[in-house]
Amino acid sequence: MLRTDSSARTGWQKRTRLQYLNGQVPIENQNHLQQQHVDHKIAEALLKKGTNNAYRTWTQQDRAWVDMVLHLPHEHGGFGVTHNTVSRHAASYTTNARFVAFLGTFSLPAQQVWLPGNELNDSSTWVAPPLCTLKGLHQRLVQEFDCTDQPAAVQPSQPGVGGAAAGAGAAQQPQPAGPQDNGDGQLILPQLNRLHEAYKRSQVASSASSSSQDQQQPPKPTIPTQKRVTQQLSTHWGPFKALRQHYAGSRFEQQLQLHLPQKHKATEQDSTLRVEMNGLEEQADNAKPRELWWKPLSWLGTLRPTTANDAWDPGLWQTFFSSTLGLEVPALSSLPHHNNQPTAKCGCKKFLLDLHGDHVSTCTAHSGATKAHDWMVSILGPLFRTAGHQVRTQFGVSPSDPGRQKRGDVEIVSYLQDAAGARNLVFDLRITHDRYGKSAQPHHNGQLTHPQ
Ligand SMILES: [Zn+2]
Repeated sequence: MLRTDSSARTGWQKRTRLQYLNGQVPIENQNHLQQQHVDHKIAEALLKKGTNNAYRTWTQQDRAWVDMVLHLPHEHGGFGVTHNTVSRHAASYTTNARFVAFLGTFSLPAQQVWLPGNELNDSSTWVAPPLCTLKGLHQRLVQEFDCTDQPAAVQPSQPGVGGAAAGAGAAQQPQPAGPQDNGDGQLILPQLNRLHEAYKRSQVASSASSSSQDQQQPPKPTIPTQKRVTQQLSTHWGPFKALRQHYAGSRFEQQLQLHLPQKHKATEQDSTLRVEMNGLEEQADNAKPRELWWKPLSWLGTLRPTTANDAWDPGLWQTFFSSTLGLEVPALSSLPHHNNQPTAKCGCKKFLLDLHGDHVSTCTAHSGATKAHDWMVSILGPLFRTAGHQVRTQFGVSPSDPGRQKRGDVEIVSYLQDAAGARNLVFDLRITHDRYGKSAQPHHNGQLTHPQ
């Protein structure tokens, strides 16, 4: 959740209660409008600040795209501001499913006090509003959002009936008991008629003596988390699909792709840190090599209101916010321009300034790149010192490439330990930009340097 100003925080605090309450309101339209209104207001507060009010002139479709990206989770490359319109269904599904599971722990007479006439193990008898809501949602999740019912338990082979086929069935591997994923993005939901078993104490204790029965017991239904259901809904949400199709290949869509999570092998044999990284690998013979995940926007989830000193300068926030989404950078679009083309030249005198900031992000003559580089160096030195290392910066640093006599930026003394003894680790920091900004062929500027 992004928290940059008071209006976004208010939305965060109200969110859970709203989702819960509206999940229980059966009037679909009223429910929908209220949630949409809240989503719209939160997005507007973020846009007002992040685009310096530029959003007021956008087309409805551009606004819809940006709203989507603000609301997508970090896992999907978005800003992670929970979308009430989407997540209300997940909240409603999980609260009602848990309610049924909770009642399932009661005795049958007690269940009838709570829900007279509704049999928990037979959803065709369900008439109580929360159960009807759950039934409707379950159906929608299966039909529209790539969910599927947990398969029925393997039938125990009965004496007399069991031929070779029944025997093979009984020997099948047990169903996965963990969170309900098929591995191919499909979400497995517990069958409605078996939801009531989800919280029941396992009967292993009482039937421990008959181990053969235990093996045939169906896996206990597991209710997926609200987060997982929300993820499923976001992936298959109709309006989002239409937007992705409309903006395919655009700068908007490229920016979203660039912010998707990345997976890397932890131990690379040609890496300087192979010895350290290998030391962290699990040593068992069949252990899976470790993987490192990087979610480019997940740091937004840790933004907190702090002191005035730590606050982002409004211009810096606008540049981050707008360029991440693929919008014009407010500081640049306020410069004089003609027919969407800027008329101002960069201080390097070779290129016009573009409104998305591709040139200023790459120009070595006149840009903040050097400043950003020096800032990074000034942060890294003290960071490693707090971890107890002896660190050299500036003049004491050895060359990072002995052949070229180019001094590195940060040197950590005796960091590497291997058979050859202790050696220093030298960093040479470089900042890259995803797009061309000072190409000799100007029509390349703005294009991705590494398109997939
Ligand atoms: Zn320049």
